[in-house]
Amino acid sequence: MHAPHVDVGLGSKQTTRSPATKTLDFLWLELTNRCNLRCVHCYTESHPHSGDRDVLTAQDYDSLMRQAYDLGCRKLQFIGGEPQLNRDFQKLLVTANTISFEFIEVFSNLTQLDDETICYAASNGICFATSVYSDEPEAHDAITGVRSSHARTIRNLKKLIDKGIETRVATIVINQDQANVARTKRFLVELGVSQVRSAETREFGRGEEILSRPARLEGLCGHCWSGKLCIAPDGAAYPCVMARQWPVGNVLEMSLAEIVAGRSLEDMRQAIFDTVWLPKLADAGNGGEVGTHELEMVRKPSKPQKPHKPQKPPKPCAPFKLNPKHPHKPKTKPGHPAQKPSDDECFPCPQSCVPDTVPPECPQSCGPFPARVPGEKKKKKE
Ligand code: SF4
Repeated sequence: MHAPHVDVGLGSKQTTRSPATKTLDFLWLELTNRCNLRCVHCYTESHPHSGDRDVLTAQDYDSLMRQAYDLGCRKLQFIGGEPQLNRDFQKLLVTANTISFEFIEVFSNLTQLDDETICYAASNGICFATSVYSDEPEAHDAITGVRSSHARTIRNLKKLIDKGIETRVATIVINQDQANVARTKRFLVELGVSQVRSAETREFGRGEEILSRPARLEGLCGHCWSGKLCIAPDGAAYPCVMARQWPVGNVLEMSLAEIVAGRSLEDMRQAIFDTVWLPKLADAGNGGEVGTHELEMVRKPSKPQKPHKPQKPPKPCAPFKLNPKHPHKPKTKPGHPAQKPSDDECFPCPQSCVPDTVPPECPQSCGPFPARVPGEKKKKKE
């Protein structure tokens, strides 16, 4: 079965064919639409009771990961809602690791995180990403709608850092003033967060109300034209977690390979490339949005002003007891070689939803942007 063709209004804007339209490089798996928080800008409009469209089972997610790997995908992010609210979260994390994805990240609000998960992540190179809206607990909690969420998120963030786990944190700018944003970023760097950045609120989900404008293609960051795909808990596939207005198929009706090779995804990626990506590159060349604050990123300095030191030496930890009975034997199909992160990758993504990655096919010179070190998976501890 093929996804219905979606008219994305390319029209006369279609000028340059994007060079990577039928690949799968990075997969977002939304493990639930539920969340224990209720952030004012949430693009999935998640809240504690928003799981009525959570249809995919653990077996479905397992199958999707294997299909993705067989299509050459090596980078995976679990996201939601709050992904840890999926009762099979730990099992799925073990499966992803067993399949041998080279980059596995959990995008979580970190208000809940058990020691078993932290230890498994530390031992297996699993990364974590989250959002922190302010260094002031009250300001952060006002955005999440849950009192003490700041305290819990920061406590668990510190635990991850103490275990040496790679962490990315974005401060989404909603109503905070510039001084608050700058202070929050400093706070996070001093905490020892690996990558810190700020990003604008986007007009998707509850963000439409905040910005008083409807969702539109130009509201995307533009990175998802190449090789990215999101699968929602109801099986819907989107070019990006934010692009929910533009479905490109459903995994309950078709295989991942059919979606990736389908016309709907190709047309959407082309539309994003033409309508969002190319104008942003042109703008960046003139010192515009992409070249300045939106791509702003602060990396943990090599000589931090306040060196981060774990409070106590980390205790040895027990791995998950979950061992898949039939471990997946990774195989690479002809034409889908393993996609190692390229040294040419150099753009930080402006949005908090993906790690810093841009395909090497990017037509733009990498000069004005900070160089990056691709986030290769750490070696497992012996
Ligand atoms: S933590 Fe994330 S998923 Fe949950 S409400 Fe906030 S933005 Fe939405």
